Amino acid sequence: MSAPAHRYLSLGAGVQSSTVLLLAARGDIPTFDAAIFANTGWEPIAVYAHLRRLEQLAAASGMPVVRVAAGDIRRDALDPAHRFASMPLFTLGPNGERGMARRQCTGEYKIKPIKVEVRRRLGYPHPTRVPAGVVAEMAIGISLDEIGRARDADVAYMRNTFPLLDLGWRRQDCLAYLTAHGLGDTPRSACVGCPFRTDAEWVRLRRDDPTGWDDAVAFDAAIRHGSARANAAGQPLRGQFFLHRQRIPLNQVTLRPRADAQADAPGCGPWTCPHPDTVTEPTPESSATSGREVRH
Ligand code: SF4
Repeated sequence: MSAPAHRYLSLGAGVQSSTVLLLAARGDIPTFDAAIFANTGWEPIAVYAHLRRLEQLAAASGMPVVRVAAGDIRRDALDPAHRFASMPLFTLGPNGERGMARRQCTGEYKIKPIKVEVRRRLGYPHPTRVPAGVVAEMAIGISLDEIGRARDADVAYMRNTFPLLDLGWRRQDCLAYLTAHGLGDTPRSACVGCPFRTDAEWVRLRRDDPTGWDDAVAFDAAIRHGSARANAAGQPLRGQFFLHRQRIPLNQVTLRPRADAQADAPGCGPWTCPHPDTVTEPTPESSATSGREVRH
């Protein structure tokens, strides 16, 4: 296999990938041809503000930050004419069964547009076959404490690399590095209404971003009986969807934030989305919706 001619960073704009971008921008690791941010359209305002900061920082070092998108996750979910890429919503069945909807959103709104961009940059946009040996490196911000989330790419034209693992850095090292360079307030990156929020994060959203909180509350109510498309097709959900694991309306939940290290769930990067176990009760959860996983 020939050496990759293209080197990219998957920029989720959370702690780890921001660290990788900063390392490259400062010349502490080799730079990238571009940092690619997959925009779901529903990140908190703090993430977009942080992203603008990263864009300036990267631009100063000659590294472009490219925003790509496959739609607007919130708008699409409530659009009866749009296919619903299922979010990991908490479900309550008609007889009180507790489950979780399958997560398709990360693949649809994060991984897919990044792959489209990589293929375009390689010169082989879908459906053109990418010849064997044409490979782009994709750096992914996974720290040593998350090593279990490091995976090989699932397509032959991408080779995943893990600069933080190469450095042996843990999340704390990333935070220290960001803080040393004025980015210690890097926010967690995840959609405003992502059900993978812990109570500490819901409290923070309500306190620091009341508009985002109201938006999540409204979305929670709007999605209660299934996706807009399913309802428009006369196929309402058998049961109910909720954003919060207590499976009651978000604005009625008594939030009980934990003060320990588990208070925050990991952010949602394209290849580093959190596992439900990080934020849900340890009871077995079953998949409550069907649908095919997105493949690209
Ligand atoms: S942050 Fe949550 S809702 Fe958004 S893409 Fe990731 S898993 Fe889906």
